[in-house]
Amino acid sequence: MSALELNKTYFIETFKKIADMAEQNRDHLSQLDSDIGDGDHGINLTIGFREVSKQLDILSDTTADIAELMKKVGMILLSKVGGASGPLYGSFFMKMANHTVGKQSVTFKEFCQMYQDGVEAVQMRGKAELNDKTMIDALIPGLNVLKHYQEEDDPIKTLETCVSEMKKGSDNTINLIAKKGRSMRLGERAIGHRDAGSESAWMIMNEFLKQLKLEK
Ligand code: ADP
Ligand code: MG
Repeated sequence: MSALELNKTYFIETFKKIADMAEQNRDHLSQLDSDIGDGDHGINLTIGFREVSKQLDILSDTTADIAELMKKVGMILLSKVGGASGPLYGSFFMKMANHTVGKQSVTFKEFCQMYQDGVEAVQMRGKAELNDKTMIDALIPGLNVLKHYQEEDDPIKTLETCVSEMKKGSDNTINLIAKKGRSMRLGERAIGHRDAGSESAWMIMNEFLKQLKLEK
């Protein structure tokens, strides 16, 4: 395989796409959250990524490496978003910096490691396990795919599988009782409703996939 390198521009362009995706899906994500939460998930994501988007040109010029970019994006989400998802996605992106210090580009294998670091941070902060009806139910099935990526595999196919497994994970939340987050208080009444964060999680990774398809 030719060594695919994902540079800072790849991440900047992906964040632009995520910001657009959040705007376009704001009502959909808030609707899911209003069924079993407080109805603000789409608004929270939009607020966070709108601010990220506003600062991207500056971040593109002022960040020394991928690590600094990811840290700053994570910090914006952490500081601008009021809901639970702000700190969780904030930690996700901040921890993606762990293995990228001094790097101007990463291989797809390194990208898989970044994703793993991010998911571990969400678990560390939110303490949710699989089947607690949270974004973890999408993030973990995705991780199970990326963990097994080998250098000879096709990155696009791998990320496609990752996103489709994340979607299935989100589908699985429909039949679950929540053990974390606001929908916990609903008990059995949460059954029949999809968790909003599991939906936004696969949608975010889908934007990484779309941008990957444009890289060559
Ligand atoms: P809030 O719940 O504060 O209103 P949001 O509506 O923005 O915040 O986000 C809700 C989403 O956050 C849920 O759908 C769920 O996926 C996720 N979430 C909540 N608590 C946790 C947790 N402890 N661990 C992982 N994800 C969580
Ligand atoms: Mg909410």
